[in-house]
Amino acid sequence: MDCIFCKIASGEIPSKKVYEDGDMLAFYDINPMAKVHVLVIPKTHIDNIDGINAENSACVAKIFGKMGEIAKAAGITNGYRVISNCGRDAKQSVMHLHFHILGGEELPERLA
Ligand code: AMP
Ligand code: ZN
Repeated sequence: MDCIFCKIASGEIPSKKVYEDGDMLAFYDINPMAKVHVLVIPKTHIDNIDGINAENSACVAKIFGKMGEIAKAAGITNGYRVISNCGRDAKQSVMHLHFHILGGEELPERLA
């Protein structure tokens, strides 16, 4: 499958890693929208939140169980925002489930 985040997960495309284990990878966004901008992905391909189901949700639970540790490893000390864009109206641009961690500064206005 021609998926850029699958290639990043496998190491075929390099990334600046923050955290990695057998199930997930956290790496810096190439086009940061905040002082600290990390993406967290499951290594298994899931298109987006709509693709999460009872069979594959364990990796998502594991990602959320590590979120604070990943934010801290990226140097975030004073709070952060987690965003996952799902589908066209949300302007999802990479069709592999990912969670943006934004922080490292006081964030601008909120949408949620
Ligand atoms: P979204 O628009 O929510 O689908 O987010 C996709 C994110 O992936 C964007 O913030 C991009 O800057 C980021 N991105 C795309 N390609 C790469 C890459 N090769 N390395 C790191 N981040 C990337
Ligand atoms: Zn993928």
